[in-house]
Amino acid sequence: MAKVQKPLPIVTPLDEPYWKFTQRHELRLQRCSRCRQFRFPASAVCPECDADAAEWIAVSGNGTLFSWVVFHKCYFPGFAQEIPYNVAMIRLDEGPMFISNVTGVDNAALRKGMRLAVYFEDVSEEFTIPKFRPGQDPGR
Ligand SMILES: [Zn+2]
Repeated sequence: MAKVQKPLPIVTPLDEPYWKFTQRHELRLQRCSRCRQFRFPASAVCPECDADAAEWIAVSGNGTLFSWVVFHKCYFPGFAQEIPYNVAMIRLDEGPMFISNVTGVDNAALRKGMRLAVYFEDVSEEFTIPKFRPGQDPGR
């Protein structure tokens, strides 16, 4: 039987740069050129100051676990091999909230506030997905 594929991201003109950077294993987020607030997900206009100018800034990829759920039931056939898996909200050190998976740690050992670091999983020729695993606490 053919392997069931996981759904791939749907790219828009706004977040196309994001996916190009992840392909290069770089985590860059759109940041307002005027007020310097990050816009994640990317947007055409800054929700803080209405400016449209923006740039793609490299972020550390470090953050803390804010919240998570663990999927014990298979809702998506492409994820059947990974049950049980988590879907987590990670607060990046730069501020934006990121949704991804935390790997490299048992789901039962996940703790709010634990330090996490990004890594990149190449899932196809076109897509690389940022994921997180326990990371070193940067001197705090
Ligand atoms: Zn702004």
